[in-house]
Amino acid sequence: MNFNSLVLKVASRCNLNCSYCFMYNLGDTTYKKQPKFMSSQIVDAILEKTKRYVQRYKKKEFSFTFHGGEPLLASKEFYRTFMYKFKKLQEELKEVSFLFYIQTNGVLIDEEWIDLFKEFNISPGISVDGTSKAHDMFRVDHKGKGSYTEVFKAASLLKKEMNYTDIACVININEKPREIYDSFKNMNVDHVNFLIPDYTHDNFPFDDTKTEMADWLVQLFDIWVNDIEKFNIPMFIGLMNSFLRIGRDSLNEATVLVIETNGEIEAVDSLKTCGHGFTKTRLNITNNELDEIENTSLGKLYFNDFNRKLCRQCEKCPIKEVCRGGRLVHRYSKEKGFNNPSVYCKDLVTLIAHIQNYFITFFPELHEKENIEAIDANEVIQYLTTINKGLVTAKEKELESFSVENRELEKI
Ligand code: SF4
Ligand code: SF4
Repeated sequence: MNFNSLVLKVASRCNLNCSYCFMYNLGDTTYKKQPKFMSSQIVDAILEKTKRYVQRYKKKEFSFTFHGGEPLLASKEFYRTFMYKFKKLQEELKEVSFLFYIQTNGVLIDEEWIDLFKEFNISPGISVDGTSKAHDMFRVDHKGKGSYTEVFKAASLLKKEMNYTDIACVININEKPREIYDSFKNMNVDHVNFLIPDYTHDNFPFDDTKTEMADWLVQLFDIWVNDIEKFNIPMFIGLMNSFLRIGRDSLNEATVLVIETNGEIEAVDSLKTCGHGFTKTRLNITNNELDEIENTSLGKLYFNDFNRKLCRQCEKCPIKEVCRGGRLVHRYSKEKGFNNPSVYCKDLVTLIAHIQNYFITFFPELHEKENIEAIDANEVIQYLTTINKGLVTAKEKELESFSVENRELEKI
């Protein structure tokens, strides 16, 4: 098993109601059946099963990310109890290094929360979409009021008290990259994880004959790469590393396992975008071991094959090694399951080509000594349209087994 991280949904509700949220607003309503908060019994089961998993697979490092909904809706007492119980686990597994993260919308962050993060060594990440205009367009409360003012204060407080600001930003192409970039500079952030919005082939809102997402990202890359006092952007660093074959690229998700508030085990929560109940596996931490996820069709695809089992177009794509089909959710359609290229395919080609071309200009020896040619995005896009569909292979059938019709048959 290749996951070293659990995402714990400690609260299933949220004090915000972001319009693009896959938890509440993209068709999956399973949250309504979840208890509002994770119970002490579920925490016990998580720690017990983590212990067995870590021992069985001889893990040296393991992380927990507190998530939601909004994880700061859970009480401070919940976190104190969790960490008290965790201490016993750490005593039994002294050789394992455990890390703690929390991903919050930031609205409730205050000095008391920051004291708690410091006390237990929990690294917070907050969600900010850049400028107040971009942020308040989608990240609103239940009355439709934007949350930027509170979140800006939270970011400043984190910088002051913890000297580090880690941001997750869903890209909003309605706002100019320069303005988004400068707004983060103004916040004095350290790290911004830019996220391409989660859409499938069934609800993609952009014009697929254009490359609006890539055009935006290319502008952002040029601003970033020429800034001498830049903050970290893992997407760009990951792509540059993948050209040098260092580590993994960052167009794909990290492999984590999700534990819902009631203990249900799920492979990856962004797939809630694929439809109501799509991520359900029938596994629960109280009755099952973590590695049993491998026996579920979704777990098998996600943990073992999602970068290897690609549609025909991706398989024959000249930049497959870098792109690897992009994120799993972006490949989905109700009709053909995961047997599709990414909805952002043209964007991915354009972005990857731009960064690779930059690299070659910067290191001409790559071209001269290694004989690496600059990628021509238009040529690749044109080539991809010529790939013959042909008869459906066994591998393609497997990817199509996630079509809405087949998932219904599984009755999960
Ligand atoms: S803050 Fe996060 S969980 Fe809450 S509505 Fe927004 S995207 Fe969803
Ligand atoms: S660029 Fe398109 S065809 Fe190539 S691997 Fe990525 S999604 Fe697949």
